[in-house]
Formats: sequence, C-alpha cells, structure tokens
Amino acid sequence: MSTNRTITDLKGTFNLHNGVAMPYLGLGTYQSDNDQQVVDAVKSALEIGYRHIDTASAYKNEEGVGKGIKESNVSREEIFITSKVWNADQGYEATLKAFDESLNRLGLDYLDLYLVHWPVPEKYAETWKALEHLYSEKKIRAIGVSNFLKHHLEEILKDCEVVPMVNQMEFHPHLVQQDLLDFCKENTIQYESWSPFMQGKVLELDLCNDLAKKHKKSVAQIILRWNLQKGVVAIPKSVHAKRIKSNADIFDFELSKEDIAFLDGLENGQRTGPDPDNFNF
Ligand code: NDP
Repeated sequence: MSTNRTITDLKGTFNLHNGVAMPYLGLGTYQSDNDQQVVDAVKSALEIGYRHIDTASAYKNEEGVGKGIKESNVSREEIFITSKVWNADQGYEATLKAFDESLNRLGLDYLDLYLVHWPVPEKYAETWKALEHLYSEKKIRAIGVSNFLKHHLEEILKDCEVVPMVNQMEFHPHLVQQDLLDFCKENTIQYESWSPFMQGKVLELDLCNDLAKKHKKSVAQIILRWNLQKGVVAIPKSVHAKRIKSNADIFDFELSKEDIAFLDGLENGQRTGPDPDNFNF
C-alpha cells in the first residue's frame, strides 16, 4: 500500500494535522554517546542534508545533540527536533519540569515535537494534559506519543483537547502492525518508526536481499524507502557518517506495490524492544 504523499528528497516532509511540516527522514540517537560521538553524528547528518533529529531525556545525550546543532551551519528554524518525557517524570507538574530540563540540556528555547515516551499506566493521561498546556503556550510546535497501542490512543482521544500529532512506534518488516497504522491514519496521527533496522538485526537477515539486488540498493535503503512509501516517518540511528549518508540515498528509486506487499508480508509480531502493554520501567 503506498500513500498519495509524494516522496521527493531528504528535505521532504509530511504535514502533521496542525500544518507543521515534519521531515520524513531523520537521525535517531538512541545509544549515541553524549560526547563527541553524538556531536559528530548530528553535525554529519545536518551537513549531508538531514533536517530532523530525534532524542529523548532517557538517551542522556541531549547536551551533545544540542552542541551538534549549534556547531552546524544550519539555522535552528530549519531543523525539526524531537525529545520525549521519560517514564519517571510523568504526571502533570513533573512533565512541565522535565520539559524545561530537556530544553536547558539541548540549549534551545522551543521544541518541534515532544512525545510521551511510554504509556505509563495511571500517569499518561495527566502527562498528556501537560503536553497540551506546553503546546498552548507555544513552547512546542507539535505534541505526540510513543509506544501507544490502539487502546491507549482511544483513552487519550476520549477527552483530549489536542489530538496527538504523532505516534512513534517500533516498526520494521517483522513488526508492521497494519491495523494500528490504519487506526492512526484514520485519526490524523502521523506514524513514525523506531528501530526500522531492528537495531541492525534485520540487515543481517536474508529477507530482502532479492529486493536489494533488484533495485541495486542496500537492504537498509530498501527498508527506509518502504517506511516512506507507507507514509511512515523514519529515524534510523547511526554514528558513522558513511552510513548516515547512505541511509539518505533513497530518493532515486521506487518500490512497486508488489515489493511493498512482500515487505508487509514479513510481519511475524517479533519485537526488538518491550511490549507497550507489558513493560516494567
Ligand atoms: P535502528 O533500527 O535505527 O538501528 C541502529 C543500528 O543499526 C545501529 O547499531 C547502527 O550502527 C546500525 N546501522 C545504521 N545504519 C546502518 C547501515 N546503513 N548499515 C549497517 N548498519 C547500520 O535502531 P534504533 O533502536 O536506534 O532506532 C532508531 C531511533 O529510534 C533511535 O536511535 C531513537 O532515536 C528512536 N527510538 C525510539 C524508541 C521509543 O521508545 N520511542 C525506542 C528505540 C529507539 P552504527 O551506529 O554503529 O552505525
């Protein structure tokens, strides 16, 4: 299934329901060290042409991400920056505080996107209200959630003032969750994938080698192109400039409907990370 949305180049965007343009390819930074490693990764990405960086307070590298942004030659307004409120900081007041702390660490005065990192039971509804408040104060251009299954989203949709703009989920050929994708689309919630490479594991499997050969592309490039053609924003992580560059070299080919159906058909419910209905952190 491909979407009507056109895929053009590395600076291309999908529009969120409030009109904010979200670059559909970004750099992930989970497990990138908060030292020269993440500074260099962010600088390389921005130099190559990425305009979207994903971090979180839980990654403990917001300072490095902020430094990379500052040391780049790209102006703040051109970059889409995401962070997330960690589980231990959820609840109304604690979230407001955590948001300020993230901004301080990043050295920024606003975020493009702030996400509820996980649906902590008994807490996430209050956390969402804090995000709505920050959004109304124009400290964030868009607000969203992460790791929210359909029933979590339904709970939020029941009495929210602002419908979440984004749901960031584990998504790769072994975990497609098409029903959830469709539900998000019906509710104008942009789907965003984390661990598009299953943290590298999917690149070692034999799954898409034929497709890679057919298109003269790498397996990583096939998978990222599949994300975008399904209307999913992708944030592959790498700390190597060469890989960051090759992960963005996905704008000179197109997957057919059959290619997409093949990749969709690899779904087997296999997770790399925790189950959003059963986590204990
Ligand atoms: P990915 O699926 O993006 O895989 C990253 C791994 O793949 C790294 O080991 C990287 O190694 C390697 N890699 C990257 N590009 C290539 C390539 N072209 N060829 C070979 N190997 C490659 O995993 P992540 O879990 O990092 O997910 C992406 C991002 O999603 C995170 O960084 C984070 O920003 C976000 N995330 C969000 C979560 C949430 O709960 N909301 C949970 C997990 C992630 P190397 O760096 O050495 O190049």
